[in-house]
Amino acid sequence: MAKIIIVLYPDPVGGQPTSYARDSLPVIEKYPNGQTLPTPKATDFQPGTLLGSVSGGLGLVNWLESLGHTVVVTDSKEGADSVLDRELPDADVVISQPFWPAYLTAERLDAAKNLKIAITAGIGSDHVDLPAAIDKGITVAEVTYCNSISVAEHTVMQVLALVRDYIPQYKIVVDGGWNIADSVARSYDLEGMDVGVFGAGRIGSAVLERLAPFDVKLHYSDRYRLPAEVEERLKLTWHDDIRSLVPHLDVLTVHAPLTAETQGLIDDELLSTFRHGSYIVNPARGAIADRDAIVRALESGQLGGYAGDVWFPQPAPADHPWRTMPHHGMTPHTSGTSLSAQSRYAAGVREILENFFEGTPLRDEYIIVQGGGYAGTGAHSYAAKK
Ligand code: NAD
Repeated sequence: MAKIIIVLYPDPVGGQPTSYARDSLPVIEKYPNGQTLPTPKATDFQPGTLLGSVSGGLGLVNWLESLGHTVVVTDSKEGADSVLDRELPDADVVISQPFWPAYLTAERLDAAKNLKIAITAGIGSDHVDLPAAIDKGITVAEVTYCNSISVAEHTVMQVLALVRDYIPQYKIVVDGGWNIADSVARSYDLEGMDVGVFGAGRIGSAVLERLAPFDVKLHYSDRYRLPAEVEERLKLTWHDDIRSLVPHLDVLTVHAPLTAETQGLIDDELLSTFRHGSYIVNPARGAIADRDAIVRALESGQLGGYAGDVWFPQPAPADHPWRTMPHHGMTPHTSGTSLSAQSRYAAGVREILENFFEGTPLRDEYIIVQGGGYAGTGAHSYAAKK
C-alpha cells in the first residue's frame, strides 16, 4: 500500500460551498488538438464543485482509502515543521498544484527516500527540482491540456482589461463616481495593435486563435515553429526569440514554461526595448519576469500595464510589490483552477494514479520526467532544444 500526500490550497474562508452559481458544466469532448480529456475508470465527484482545496481533496480521498492507501491532505507546505516536511520521508506519491505549490527542492527530494512519482494537479511542474528528480529516477507527471484553455481565456480577459483600462473604471462605479474623463484617460482599443505570444504551445496557440478575431496583428516566438497552415490562417509573424519579438509589439503575452532558459528573461534590458506604454500579460510563471524591473517599468511609464496570475513565491507575501504597483491587473493564481478546470485535473490525477497503481504506462503527453530523463511533454517543453 502506498502513502500519498496531497498538498492543496486552503478551503474558502467561509468553509466549502453548499451551493454553486451554476448547476452543471458544458460537456467538452476533446481538446483542440484532438487529445481526449482524462479517462479514469471512475470518478467520485460532482463536476463543477470545489475539488482543489483541502476539503475537496481532488475527489480522490475516499477512493484511495478504500484501496487501503494512506492519504494525507494538507495545505501546510512551508518550513521544517510543515505537514509536508513531516510526512515526506516515507511518502510514495506527492500531488501538488501550481496554485499552491509544494516546492519539491533537491533537499526535500533527498529527504523523500520512498518517493516514486510527483504529480501536478494542473500544468507546469517547475515547482519540482526536475534535474534532481531525474537524478533520483522519480517520475514527474502533469495533466497536460487540463487547464490550457482556462488560462487562454484568462489571458484574453486580462489583455482587454489592461488595454481598455477596465479595472479603474469598475472601481469608479463601485465608489459611486461617474467621471467619464477620468475613466477613459488610459483607455484604448485593442483593434489594430501588435500582439505577440512568447511560447506558442497549447496555451499560446489558444491565445492566438482567440485574439485573431479582434483584428490585431499577431506575432509569436517559440523554439518550434507552428505549422505553416496555422501561420497563414492567423496571419502570424514569426520571430526568432523574445528579443527580436518585443520591439514589434504593443502587447506581449507569456506562455513558456519556467526553465533555466526563461528564468528572469523579462528584465530591465528587455523592457527597455519594448514600445513605450506596452502591456504584458504573464500567466506562465512569475519568475520569468524580474519582479522589481516590472515595478520600475510601470512606474516610469515604459510599461502601460502588467497582468497575469503567477507570482514568486506562492502564496505571494502581503508586501509583494506587484500587489501595489501602478496599472496592474494581477489576480491570485486562479486562471487554471476555475471550477471547470478542477474537474478535468482531478480526473486526470485519478487516471495517472490508476496507471501508477496498476503499473501500466502513463499517457505520454502527461509525462515530464521519467526513467532518469525528460520524456513526453517534458522532452518538448522543458528539455534544452536539441
Ligand atoms: P506547452 O508545453 O503546450 O507549451 C509550452 C511552449 O513553450 C512549447 O511550445 C515550447 O516549445 C515553448 N518553449 C519552451 N521553452 C521555450 C523557450 N525558451 N523559448 C521559447 N519557447 C519555449 O504548455 P502550455 O499548456 O501551453 O503551458 C505553458 C505554461 O503555462 C506552463 O509550463 C505553465 O508554466 C503555465 N501554466 C499556467 C497556468 C496558470 O494557472 N496560470 C496553468 C497552466 C499552465
